[in-house]
Amino acid sequence: MGDVVIIGAGVTGIQAALDLANHGVKVHLIEREPSIGGHMAQLDKTFPTNDCSMCILSPKMAEVAVHPLIAIHTCTEVTHVTGDAGNFTVTCLKHPRFIDEELCNGCGDCVEICPVEVYNRFDAGVGVRKAIYKPHQQVIPDLVIKDPDHCIECGLCYDACGPEAIKKEDEEKQFDIRAAGIILASGYSVFDPSQKPQFRHLDLPDVVTSLEFERMMNASGPTGGRVKRLSDGGTPRHVVFIQCVGSRDTALGCTGCSTVCCMAALKNAMLIREKYPDTEVTICYMDIRAYGKGYEEYYQRAIDAGIRFIRGMPAEILETGNGMEIRVENTENSEMVVLFPDLVILSVGLRPNVSTAAIAKELGIPVEDSGFLKSENDAVRIVETIKPGIYIAGTAVSPRDIPDCVSLAGAAAMKAFIDATRT
Ligand code: SF4
Ligand code: SF4
Ligand code: SF4
Repeated sequence: MGDVVIIGAGVTGIQAALDLANHGVKVHLIEREPSIGGHMAQLDKTFPTNDCSMCILSPKMAEVAVHPLIAIHTCTEVTHVTGDAGNFTVTCLKHPRFIDEELCNGCGDCVEICPVEVYNRFDAGVGVRKAIYKPHQQVIPDLVIKDPDHCIECGLCYDACGPEAIKKEDEEKQFDIRAAGIILASGYSVFDPSQKPQFRHLDLPDVVTSLEFERMMNASGPTGGRVKRLSDGGTPRHVVFIQCVGSRDTALGCTGCSTVCCMAALKNAMLIREKYPDTEVTICYMDIRAYGKGYEEYYQRAIDAGIRFIRGMPAEILETGNGMEIRVENTENSEMVVLFPDLVILSVGLRPNVSTAAIAKELGIPVEDSGFLKSENDAVRIVETIKPGIYIAGTAVSPRDIPDCVSLAGAAAMKAFIDATRT
């Protein structure tokens, strides 16, 4: 039986790893971040069931961590691939963690004592982390990482660490893995709203992206689940969602629908109404795309919850003496509507992961004009590529929701299983 390499340890990579390992295949799960989990670990709830995202993901992460047939390689990137189906050599580069992974027990004493606070990318701009840190509390593997760019070498963490796990010096390590098959599940990046300056992200404090809002809504996030204006900490009175930011936009070359942001906005709008019944919520949209099982009913629930829907795309967010102002034409009746929100959420689209083009080139598989990976056939061979033994899954192929990602993970695992058993 051959091994399988999975590149990317979001929910797709995790599910594929479990499916393969539970059928006796040794899996190497490669993740460039310090923890597995991907974007799903950042989310508050998932639609249409409103289940807590980590309540679904965390048990899968824990299962991966203890599975005897799954080797997790975090802080690691694939740099080179040679060979063919049944006999690949995958060269990996492990970036320094500045922590002895055998000695660290994840106690967090070093984090507690570290005096340096910097922007936490995991919290998408809403929270901070230390110079030695865990991106969030449920990381797998349960290890900290030291950030040499921000560490001032004060020495406090070395003294606090009983097992003496913190390294002053560390270096990159290169290693090879022999594999029968490869699954690429490199995921997505969110659209950078600075490309739409009219929406004033990072200019006006109370304009946030949908991902930033997910961190704000999350009970274990930086605000403890409290929705607030970042300008003054107050509870917003009127929240406006602007849909399709960085999607369906020919001027930017992002022509496709990101498929998940309508449902995510409905979910978050309903959660706001549940938590803050006095807060008005408006969604400005081009179309509401509620295409999955139970999704149309979910949309109806949002209407019943008193959320206001305006079919129209605001041109810009204005700043007046009294706060923010949005003018939008309701294209259903040609009326001009003026809104005065005190929190605006930009429903940013899903773009190809920044690493996808480079790894696709290394694997010798094509990407589409959109930057997403190209399937052998979009109708019937979605997880297969032009290269036998190399499979693709999840949002690296195209924007899709979590149930679809999990389905594709299973399909890719099945294909790789056949390669593994032939070896
Ligand atoms: Fe604890 Fe040391 Fe690991 Fe920090 S490095 S979490 S103090 S064991
Ligand atoms: Fe933080 Fe660096 Fe000081 Fe450790 S040595 S406590 S990581 S600033
Ligand atoms: Fe726009 Fe909705 Fe498609 Fe997202 S899912 S791109 S918000 S139509």
